[in-house]
Parts: sequence; C-alpha cells; structure tokens
Amino acid sequence: MKNEKETRRKFATDPVPDLMTDLHTTSTGLTQKEADDRLEKYGENVITREKQQSQLLIFLKNFTSVMAILLWVSGFVAILSGTLELGIAIWLVNIINGVFSYWQEHEAQKATDSLMKMLPAYTQVYRDGKLQQINATKMVPGDVFNLQAGNAVPVDARLIKATSVQVDQSALTGESVPESKKVAFDAGQGEFAESNLVYAGTTVGAGTATAVATAVAFATGMNTEFGRIAALTQQQKPSLSPLQLELNRLTKQISLIAIGLGLVFFVSAIFFVHYPVAQSFIFALGMIVAFIPEGLLPTVTLSLAQGVQRMAKKHALLKDLNSVETLGETTVICSDKTGTLTQNQMTVDHIWTPAHSFTVTGQDFVNNGEIQLDGKPIKYGTDADLDLLIRLVAFNNDTEVEPSKGSARPKILGTPTEASLVILAQKSGIDTKAYSITYPRLKELPFDSDRKRMTTIHQHDDHTLSICTKGSLSDLLPHCDTIQENGKVRPLTEDDKKAIDDANRKYASLGLRSIATAYREVPQETDKEKQLDGLTIDTAETNLTFVGLAIMSDPPRPEIYEAIKKCHRASIKIIMVTGDSSLTAKSVAVKIGLTSDKARVVTGGELDSMSKEDLKKALAGEIIFARVAPEQKYKIVSTLQEMGEIVASTGDGVNDAPALKKADIGVAMGVTGTDVAKDAADMILTDDNFASIVAAIEEGRTVYSNIQKFLIYILNSNLPEAVPSALFLFSRGAIPLPLTVMQILTVDLGTDMMPALGLGSEKAEPGIMDKPPRARDAHLMSKTVLWKAFAWYGLIASIISSGAYFFVNHLNGWPLKGLATSGNTYVMATNMTLAAIIFCQIAAAMNCRTENASVFKAGLFANKLVWFGIVFEIFLLALLSYTPFLQELFHTGPLAPTDWIFLAIIPIPLFLIEEGRKWLNRCRLAAKKVDVVD
Ligand code: ADP
Ligand code: MG
Repeated sequence: MKNEKETRRKFATDPVPDLMTDLHTTSTGLTQKEADDRLEKYGENVITREKQQSQLLIFLKNFTSVMAILLWVSGFVAILSGTLELGIAIWLVNIINGVFSYWQEHEAQKATDSLMKMLPAYTQVYRDGKLQQINATKMVPGDVFNLQAGNAVPVDARLIKATSVQVDQSALTGESVPESKKVAFDAGQGEFAESNLVYAGTTVGAGTATAVATAVAFATGMNTEFGRIAALTQQQKPSLSPLQLELNRLTKQISLIAIGLGLVFFVSAIFFVHYPVAQSFIFALGMIVAFIPEGLLPTVTLSLAQGVQRMAKKHALLKDLNSVETLGETTVICSDKTGTLTQNQMTVDHIWTPAHSFTVTGQDFVNNGEIQLDGKPIKYGTDADLDLLIRLVAFNNDTEVEPSKGSARPKILGTPTEASLVILAQKSGIDTKAYSITYPRLKELPFDSDRKRMTTIHQHDDHTLSICTKGSLSDLLPHCDTIQENGKVRPLTEDDKKAIDDANRKYASLGLRSIATAYREVPQETDKEKQLDGLTIDTAETNLTFVGLAIMSDPPRPEIYEAIKKCHRASIKIIMVTGDSSLTAKSVAVKIGLTSDKARVVTGGELDSMSKEDLKKALAGEIIFARVAPEQKYKIVSTLQEMGEIVASTGDGVNDAPALKKADIGVAMGVTGTDVAKDAADMILTDDNFASIVAAIEEGRTVYSNIQKFLIYILNSNLPEAVPSALFLFSRGAIPLPLTVMQILTVDLGTDMMPALGLGSEKAEPGIMDKPPRARDAHLMSKTVLWKAFAWYGLIASIISSGAYFFVNHLNGWPLKGLATSGNTYVMATNMTLAAIIFCQIAAAMNCRTENASVFKAGLFANKLVWFGIVFEIFLLALLSYTPFLQELFHTGPLAPTDWIFLAIIPIPLFLIEEGRKWLNRCRLAAKKVDVVD
C-alpha cells in the first residue's frame, strides 16, 4: 500500500516532460503501433469480473428447492413402500425439471450479459498524432487523451492541460462533493486528493482537460485504484423486481393452498378410501405438485430477458430486467427536443446581423453551399459584421468534423450544433487553421446547459486579448451593452433589442434554433497569466458587444409522427422539456403533433417560481417546458410522480443525472449522452430516438401480457389434473384413479413446459398500444386470469379428459361391466385421460396466444416456439406410449391409430369455441368504444 502511494506521489510530482519520458510517450500521444504493442503487453483496460458463482452451484441449486426436496423424499417413500418404478420415475421427473429450470436461468443470464458488451464507452485519444475515438477498453499507459464534462475517466492519469475541471470521486472515496483538479501539483487532504491526478471510475462534472495515462506495470484495468475497490464491492446480489416479488408471493400462496389440499387428500385417502399411508402420501403429493406452478419463476425471468433482447434490437438497452415491467406501466414521457424528437442534423440556414440578413445554402455536415445576400454569393472579407460572426463561431468551437469518403456520414467529434457552425465557417471560405495560429486560444469557459453560453479567450494582437462568446439569445443579450453594425460599435438601445428580438421571433416561430454571438476586446496586462486567471464567467461574459445570430434548422425525425400518435392512442402523455427557446419549442411541438397550439409554454424561470399546486394544475393540461436547465427537470419529474404518474424521462448531460435517477425509467442518449447520464439511466437509446422509447414501452406491455398468458396456460391444467383424483376420493374409490400420480407429474413437469416457453415470446397483440397503461397496483393474477384458467379452459379440459376415461371404459363394456381397476383397459383408460389433457393443452397453448385478437390475425404459425412446444408434447406422449421401459414406469400403453384420430380432433372445437368468444368480446369492446366517442 505504501508503495502504491509512493508511485502515485511520483506521478503527481515529476515534471511533465520527465513523466512523458518515463512513459515513453509524447504530448501528442502514442503511435497506433506502439499502442497495439502495449495493449498486448498490459491487456485490456477492463474491470475483470470477480469469478461468478460457480455454474455447478447454480445448477445444483435447482435440485435443492423446497419443491425438489419434496420430490426427492417422495421418491424415497415410494421406493421404501415397494414401488421402485414410481420412485425412480419421480426422481427422473425431478431431474428433468431441474435441468430445464437451470437452462432457462442460464439463457436469461446470457441474454443480459451480452447487453453489457453492446455499449462501449469511447474516449478521445491521440494516436499517430491525431485525435480519435477509441474504445476505452483499448487504452494503454502513455495514451494522451481528452476529458470533458460528463466523461467517465477511463484510466488513472496525470493532467497536462486543464480548465475549470471538477471531478466526482465518490465512487472511490464516497465523498460526493466534487474535487477541483488542475495542472499544478497540490498534495491535498486525504486519499486521492492530489490535485493533478484523475482516477478511473470517477467522472468529470465540469471543465475540459488533456491527460496522460500513467503507467506502472499495472496501471490500467483491474489495477487502477478503482479496479482495486471494485473488486471488493462486486459481490452484490441483484434485487428482485416487483413482478418477481409478486410471483414469489403468488407461488407461495398457491403452494400453501396446494399443501392444504394435499393434506385433505391425504387424510381422505386414508380414512375414506382406506388407502395405505405410503400410497396416500404419494397420492396427495401428486396433487401438491400439480398445483404448485414451479416453472413460473424461471419462465418469467427468461421471458423478461428475451424482452430485453428484443428491445436491444429496437435500439433500447435496459440495464436491468426490472425495467421491463415499469416500461409497460409508463404514463408520461418527459422528452428532450434536440436529437430525440429531431434529427440533430443541424444546418445553419440564416445569419442575421443588425445590417443584413443572409441566407446559407446546402445541407448536412458537408461544405456543399454558400452564404448569400439578396441571392448573390458573398465570401469572407466583404462584410465586417459577417466576418466577425464567422470568426466568433469558428473560434468559439470545440467540434471537429471529419469529412467522409463516399456515402458514409461525416464523423463529428463534438456536438451537432457546433458542427453546423464549423461547416458555416467552411462555406464562408475562411481558413480556420491559419486563423487559429494567428489568434491562439488562451482559455475556455466551457458551455453548460445552465447558463447556456460558452466563451473562449484569444490573443488578438500583442496588446489585446479578445473574449468570444456564443449562446442562447435570452442568456447572452442581457450581458451585452453595445452592438456592432457595419463594423461600428455603438451603445445597445431598446430599439436594437426590439429589432433583435423581432428577428429571433420570426425564425423561432418557424421552429428554427438560434445561437447569438458577442465579443469584447481587453487590453493585455503585464501579468497575462494572472489576468487570464481573473477572467471568469462573471468577469468575462459581461459588457459584451452583440454581433449577430446564426440560425439553424433541425428537422423532426421522420418516424416521430407515428410514434407520437401511438402514444396518444395508448394514453401516454408526452411533455417536451428543452433548453431551447419557447417559440422554437412550441413550433416544433405543434409541427410534429405533440401538442395543439393551445398548449401552455412554461419557461425555466416561471417553473422556479411556480408553487407545487400551480405546477400540478399546469401538468394536468397540455404543457411544454422551454429554456429549462437540466436541474429543473427533477422538479417536473418528482411532481409528476406525486400526481401518481409513472414517468420516463430523457437526458444526456451531467446535470440530467438527478432527474434520470428520480424518473421511474431514466432514458439516456447512447450517441450524444455523457457517461454520467448513461450511468444514472435505466435505459440507453443507441439511436437517441424518441420512437425507440415508444417501441420499448410496447415491448414492455407485451412482455407483461405474455406473462399473464402463460400464467393462464400453466394454471389451466391444474383442474383437469385434480378432477380425476377428486372423483376417486368422492366416490370412495368406486371410480379407480383415472390419472395416476406419475401421469400428473408427466403433464405438470414435462409436457407443459415447452409451449409455456413459446408463449413468452409471443409478439405484441394488435391493439396493445390502443389502451391505457395498466395500473401500477393491478395484479398479475387478475380476475380475468383466474376466470380463464379455472372456470373456462380448466373446466372444458376437465370434462374432456374425464370423458375420455369413461369413454375408453365404455368401449370395454362399462357401465354393464364395472370400471376397470387394473389390466389393459385400466392402463388404456388412464393413458387416454393423460393424452386428452395433453391435447387440451395444445388447444390452450394456441388459445392463450391472444387475449382478444383472433389467432389468425396474429398469424396461426407466427409463433414457431409454441408449435415446437406442441410437437415436443406429442413426441413425448408417443415416447411414453410406445417405449416398453417407459410404459412400465408411467403406466402407459400403446395408443391405437383410432385413439390418435380422436385426440387430434379434440383441439379443433376448443380452438373454435375460443375464437368465437374472442370475436364476441371484440364486438362488445367495439360497441363500447362507439359509446365513448359519442
Ligand atoms: P436542447 O438540447 O434542449 O435543445 P441545449 O441545452 O442543448 O438544449 O441548448 C440550449 C441552448 O443553448 C440552445 O438553444 C442554444 O442557444 C445554446 N447552445 C447550445 N449549444 C451551444 C454551444 N455549444 N455553445 C453556445 N451555446 C449553445
Ligand atoms: Mg441538449
């Protein structure tokens, strides 16, 4: 430990050039080749996961549950009481069930694990002297890289350049107050306090920096300070979701009922039918097993995991299975505008200066147009105001646009807003490279979404520094006291302000977005360093000279219109929360059909002074939030939650994190979002697209309804499994057991499983987004589920399967002869009861696929997995009927061709009756809807 501290101290105190030499690197980083070699040597920069629970242990766990132990014991009792085959068969079924559960768990785990790999974190690293986006796992000691607000620090590193850097080190130290970091060394107080070192696992809250990855033999990956701490805290247990908890509760309740029932059966068997105790025990056990829905939890987990996988294909990554069900309950979405509802394809279309308004041609992030005044092209060097504005937006810019070859999109290192300004400068013909040498940048006051401004300070000439500022008009104009017109600076009058505001309004009401520009020149003082230190946000961004507006368009995403309609049909409210101006926000909202033009627009300022009650009232109606700072989203989200809403909220910046955490579903942008936002979110959109949220909600609703579907399916076989035993008991043994214990186990733990699995992957039912979100307190085991499972499907199946038993007996002379108690007729009668239940289940599997829609509409063969399950069931039945060894174990016999024909007919009427019921239901619902419209 001492040693590590000493190495750290050395990294902090060595002069930068010495450190660079030690690390065999330069201020422009490593060559790609050297980096590759080092990657080979040091390995990937990843936190290696602590060895997971061993697979063997997880496997064995499936054989030590209460259910499994019950079966082990029963098998044992069966063997002791002289029925060896029964004992073996019970054990066999127990093993099959355990393997199946393990497989399901394993699949679910695999699905979630693979998601984590889909979201690499990128860092801007210098390789071969050029800034490049590199997957953070590929970073090596000696890499020189950039950091900015919102980045997760990927490695331990020493700062070599830094402006107003604040780092959140809470992951390391637990201390939530951000630490200031700078280039100069300062030992600081306590662990990790060195002022010029940053550590992997921490995040940059503000500022920009360049740093060099420090290198001891084990500087990256698991051996970073964070890696050491992570290793200690990794053994955390995942918590169960409300759905899983409800299922647990449900399983327990049903189990209690089952055990109660089992006890009644046990006692009745002994005293009523005078069955031997051991046999009564096994008989009662059959009942208990039949009723306990043992496969439910693993099936649900797998179905959630599959839902998560399907969402990933639709560009929504969920971090945790729990979110699937919350998504299905979502009632309100608070959405950003820029990039989420719009394309983030910024193009500057107009430039406004007090003297002229210019238009700009061309589209996309390509230099494919020109600046025009009254239809004629105008180049840099003709108009003093235009020239100044171009210089301001070119200097005050941290974005690089890499032109691409062929049809690929240009790469943007930075933000689309600034990229459009880079392209504007290129269209004007200015040589930005040459200018940045003539007017070198001395300092930057980075953009943040609270003050909505950004300033850079440049060397203007030997005696002057220039302050260049750009930002939103409403946040910039109050800091201006002069204005430049035709190259001349004069005081800013009320008339000027009105002219500027009018121009801005004209563009904003078209849904266009504007950036205002301003500047100030200050004489250089003798101590320049000190002067620069003194130029802070408060002192630099004041007494500015207003220059003009750059106005950019950002078209709505094409798929947004349909997505918004879908939300409205699904009674999901969408609230736009943007940093953009009120007029722009409203114009876009109305254009894309988000609100009517009667919607109320509340600005950040108003929001701050609004009382909770007023806010609640406003939130109940159509509302748009404009010019809000990310922190204010928290108030919106929490108020909505107080109103009982389930809120999904989007965000991308550092300051969005509290709202993302607070929201029921925090949604971070995968492309433009910061690491901090991604970290705080529950869901990450890999395409930043609002439509992907809606797709995820639809998927969330589907998963929930699928879980209900297989709940009905699994429960509905309980009644036909129980009725035969009840007949046997109530007739005091006059009716020999129509379904043996082994056969009950076969249905319950064998044939039933596969189709249930298929139901979990059923596609969204038509109309699933045409009804309101389900209530949070709605129970999975609703009245409809109970009714369908027991009183409808269950009852029909009971009648048919018991009917089969009596029918086989009838063919053999019943009721003239008594019911067969043993021998061939008995075996065939019970075998047919079993087979009839299986074929009823085939119909049930099909019927459960939809709630109200016709299965034909959903596609008779659309769900391959259900069909596979059905084929599997039939195969299993055939196996049991024709294999002599299994015949003995399971009391089965060979089915005749006529038996198969009889069985094959069973599902048809069941299916048709259910189709009829669904049709009636649809008619009823349609009639109701008409009422509502009237
Ligand atoms: P949103 O994403 O909701 O549109 P932002 O927080 O990105 O809002 O931007 C808010 C406002 O800040 C914009 O309308 C624009 O005027 C200004 N702005 C955005 N980016 C920059 C930037 N890089 N420099 C200066 N001002 C900016
Ligand atoms: Mg934004």
